[in-house]
Amino acid sequence: MVDIDELNNYCDNYLSVSKYKDYGPNGLQVEGSQTINKIVSGVSANLDLIEQAVVEKADAIFVHHGIFWDNESKVIVGAKRKKIELLIKNQINLFAYHLPLDDHSKVGNNIELGKRLGITKMRSVEDSLLWQGELSINLSDFERLIEEKLDRVPQIFGNKSGQIKKIAWCTGAAQGFIEDAINLNVDLYLTGEVSEKTPAVAKENNITFISAGHHATERYGVQALCDHLCSKFRLKHQFIEVSNSV
Ligand SMILES: [Zn+2]
Repeated sequence: MVDIDELNNYCDNYLSVSKYKDYGPNGLQVEGSQTINKIVSGVSANLDLIEQAVVEKADAIFVHHGIFWDNESKVIVGAKRKKIELLIKNQINLFAYHLPLDDHSKVGNNIELGKRLGITKMRSVEDSLLWQGELSINLSDFERLIEEKLDRVPQIFGNKSGQIKKIAWCTGAAQGFIEDAINLNVDLYLTGEVSEKTPAVAKENNITFISAGHHATERYGVQALCDHLCSKFRLKHQFIEVSNSV
């Protein structure tokens, strides 16, 4: 059991929240009960996740994608009102960690994904959200590995032959960083989503590009964070998968 302020401060420090300029607030987004015993985690704070957290009698929800974003309306109406109402009525704290959770060196989405895909020599790229590392696998085996580990059929573009040795990756919707990956001279760039122009950029630069799912690539950081918090504060934790094919 832990006090909400202690948990909030601990996460702020552990995830170096103040280091990041982000698109929404990191940390406690909606305040609930003062003491926390049971936590649930999920990728995104959608209504399905909040409703399941109510059923599970959670004291706090931890997510990667919270409910407040700079580019969205600031008013609390419709679905947003319903979500906030459910949280407050059931005294559930909502904690959200976006970029600090992608990038963290121990429980981040990128390092957790890299571990599952057998990437070695993993390191973050300086002044960037990209990570890079090494593999020794051919593309068709890597495709099967992704399907097995992420439960997602990846979309593959660009160079579809050969052995993968150098890889760069960034979880979520980071297809816009493909040029940065090309500049790293890697064989493969992997992220969660693809845009209309990405296949041509990959082909023209003879790089392999894989879109392995935004949700699928960002399931693991929040679980690792909550497992870490459990060992630190003796909490109970449950991950709730709200299926999302994107
Ligand atoms: Zn994301």
